[in-house]
Amino acid sequence: MNYNQFFSDAVNRLHDERRYRVFADLERIAGRFPHATWHSPNGERPVVMWCSNDYLGMGQHPKVIGAMVETATRVGTGAGGTRNIAGNHHPLVALERELADLHGKEAALLFTSGYVSNQTGISTLAKLIPNCLILSDALNHNSMIEGIRQSGCERQLFRHNDVAHLEELLIAAGPQRNKLIACESLYSMDGDIAPLAKICDLAERYGAMTYVDEVHAVGMYGPRGGGVAERDGVMHRIDVLEGTLAKAFGCLGGYITAKAEIIDAVRSYAPGFIFTTSLPPAVCAAATAAIRHLKSSNWERERHQERAARTKAVLNAAGLPVMSSTTHIVPLFVGNPERCKQACDLLLQEHGIYIQPINYPTVAKGTERLRITPSPYHDDVLIDQLAEALIQVWQQLGMPLHAAPLAAE
Ligand SMILES: *Cc1c(COP(=O)(O)O)cnc(C)c1O
Repeated sequence: MNYNQFFSDAVNRLHDERRYRVFADLERIAGRFPHATWHSPNGERPVVMWCSNDYLGMGQHPKVIGAMVETATRVGTGAGGTRNIAGNHHPLVALERELADLHGKEAALLFTSGYVSNQTGISTLAKLIPNCLILSDALNHNSMIEGIRQSGCERQLFRHNDVAHLEELLIAAGPQRNKLIACESLYSMDGDIAPLAKICDLAERYGAMTYVDEVHAVGMYGPRGGGVAERDGVMHRIDVLEGTLAKAFGCLGGYITAKAEIIDAVRSYAPGFIFTTSLPPAVCAAATAAIRHLKSSNWERERHQERAARTKAVLNAAGLPVMSSTTHIVPLFVGNPERCKQACDLLLQEHGIYIQPINYPTVAKGTERLRITPSPYHDDVLIDQLAEALIQVWQQLGMPLHAAPLAAE
């Protein structure tokens, strides 16, 4: 048997489908966000990051770095074991309190990533609900899909953000059936937002439990950064809110918040929580610093939205195919995986602009795109340079620019 052949065949299939992924070797420069160094095959080159999920640059905020360094210096690096073995370290307890407060919930539970929190959180919750039917938005993230799959429960998809379809499924399931609605608040590939208030109305009317992934909204929406549910005044109506510490909070880790008895059950039954070492104290302390800062500072949120709006307007005026987005995400339509990759390669090599191509399976085939994420620190000059570089790349690749600007968002 030549086992190696199985693996090289698998990789060759990806090459054939033009979806083999290559990662650039990048080094961020603290204090100079969004500037970074690209360790290119021909040596070091300066680049500007235009697709970071460190949306607000909090990963370089002096308070956040300070908390991480101070905590590591005081208590050391690792957590020393799972919580069953090592107990709770204090920065972790403080962080869970901070998160429960952020979402107005009784309790929070921390996981090693947002991915794990969805995967193990959803599967554990749904397993504990007898004969649970899971109603899942068709565009839910892979971590939710895996959690649903692992629960072993029956799953039905409702069309993306389609509350009429969700209602049909709820009615068909009948009042006696236990039901869990799982969705995201902000979908980060299209930049659209779920109708959370309507989903809560339906959940209450038909007796369903709700689980909402706020990964792309925490820190960025709501008066204290509690997410879209906070902004829309429905946080208290959602049973389980899930989030990450790795995007707008600039650190690492994931969590769920809910009523105390729900959190206690997940804490007690979730394998992906029980059998893995908890996050290091320094990471927890840094995340707490980021959350606290964003609870009281609106500057980052306001500037973030203003920069995103400006980026959309400038690219649109340049004739570039900005897809409609009501949020901080600026998707540019390409519609072809090779063109998408070529565009990104040209941007990096010729313009020092780093944007990762978004291809299948992250988005549907034929909807390949560049996903641009302006931050509070992308100034007018950087936005204009981005527009100029994109126009050149579009022309080089023979991709169409529209003549008259589309209506700005
Ligand atoms: C990134 C992401 C996650 C996973 O969060 P991590 O902390 O990066 O593991 C979960 N849900 C959605 C919608 C995401 O985009």
